[in-house]
Amino acid sequence: MKIDILTLFPESFSYLNSSILKRAQESGKIEINIIDIRAFSLDKHKKCDDYPFGGGAGMLMMVQPVYDAVKSVQDENAVIVMPSPSGKTLNVESVKELSKLEHIIFICGHYEGLDERIKDIFHPIEISIGDYVLTGGELPTMVIVDAVSRFVSGVINEESLKEESFSSGLLEYPQYTRPADFIGYKVPDVLLSGNHAEIEKWRKEKSLEKTKQIRPDLLKKL
Ligand code: SAM
Repeated sequence: MKIDILTLFPESFSYLNSSILKRAQESGKIEINIIDIRAFSLDKHKKCDDYPFGGGAGMLMMVQPVYDAVKSVQDENAVIVMPSPSGKTLNVESVKELSKLEHIIFICGHYEGLDERIKDIFHPIEISIGDYVLTGGELPTMVIVDAVSRFVSGVINEESLKEESFSSGLLEYPQYTRPADFIGYKVPDVLLSGNHAEIEKWRKEKSLEKTKQIRPDLLKKL
């Protein structure tokens, strides 16, 4: 999968060059390119924002630099995603759908957002990461890229994906590693028993119990 990220703040994206996403890029499972929108400004000071027509607080990202930045990377397979508080909220289903795409272009808004004509021209998919407002689209883009990459074939062990929260419709059961006893806090005996059927049963029960307690709304969707 190819991912192009258009942003005014390329320095924000170092997180994508660590851990699992770093390995996924090194092994060619995903390709991530960060494109500086400012490089496309025709202004001699590389200005990319201006006051909104009609007045109002804050600045808007101008249409021209964003348009030219998109055009520099767009191909016939590209799907354009625009993180936005007005979008549909991201969930495991939309993450899986996005993971099937060949090429995604992310447009990161900043300040008060983007000139509306970017939407009129490119018809992006707008995605929200929750009902609150962040200062820019850089963090939401990283959230979406991280979540989507995990479903790209070969990035994560398929078994881990199956057992994780939301995959089965439930939250994940509690997990433990060594030591078996830490300052008196003990790992449940069943997990040390070696009895796989019992372990499986315990995990299902815990998963259900935790979901009932924390996210009963998920049970209605089963
Ligand atoms: N004026 C906009 C509004 O009221 O909807 C908010 C603009 S916000 C300060 C700047 C940028 O941050 C947005 O263009 C978007 O890219 C990103 N953003 C902020 N909150 C977001 C959220 N909850 N989900 C996705 N993107 C968000």
